[in-house]
Amino acid sequence: VVSLREVHKSFGPLKVLDGVTFDVARGEVLTIIGRSGSGKSTALRCIDRFETIDAGQIEVCGHKVHDPGLDLRALRQDVGIVFQSYNLFPHLTIEENIVLAPSSVKRIPKAQARKEARAVLAQVGLEDKLHHYPEQLSGGQQQRAAIARSLAMRPKVMLFDEVTSALDPELTGEVLKVIEALAQDGMTMVMVTHEMGFARSIADRVVFMHRGKVHESGTATILTAPTTPELAQFIGTGL
Ligand code: ATP
Ligand code: MG
Repeated sequence: VVSLREVHKSFGPLKVLDGVTFDVARGEVLTIIGRSGSGKSTALRCIDRFETIDAGQIEVCGHKVHDPGLDLRALRQDVGIVFQSYNLFPHLTIEENIVLAPSSVKRIPKAQARKEARAVLAQVGLEDKLHHYPEQLSGGQQQRAAIARSLAMRPKVMLFDEVTSALDPELTGEVLKVIEALAQDGMTMVMVTHEMGFARSIADRVVFMHRGKVHESGTATILTAPTTPELAQFIGTGL
């Protein structure tokens, strides 16, 4: 469903993606790990066309993301992305936050959108927070609401960029649980994470990025038996 072929991306003189290639099959969970600055977020952002690439090909759910003629709106309906910071609209209630895109972009009738908002909030365990404002929620709850908002568009693929790294450890678990449940439901996911234990338990495949390249990839066993010194060192130091 997701395929990157020899993707190159520079910011000015800085080469951030240097021929990145990987695939994610339907229902698969791919986690991307690597040092700070190795290009993980950039790779993820390229998939949802928050960045345009310099060379190579990206295909997601049949959308040719590298194509200048891409239907961006159709792509964003199929691919949901959740970032480290929750990006909920502070002046809207949780329900309004969730209803916004389905009703304006997908033109789903308000009543139906509200019904679906309740369904996705139940999915993340927040059905009682419908009429709260983001600031009335804990960080973990806000992040779950942000995930619910993405799910309301009924995406085929979900991208997660370090969704727990801004959270206190005791709030991290509740967010990871939601993601785990999604994985068990068969959602196709690409996830950048620093949570090695979680990556090991949830990932069908792991991609280790190093200096803009896929330096090592494989099943989660590469996390316990790395074959390159760089991955061994990364796991050893956790940096
Ligand atoms: P981290 O673990 O810290 O999140 P990362 O692997 O996600 O790191 P990226 O965010 O992909 O790294 O950034 C890779 C490199 O590209 C970094 O050196 C970063 O400073 C640079 N970079 C990212 N976005 C931009 C931008 N919009 N303009 C210029 N440089 C950028
Ligand atoms: Mg990043």
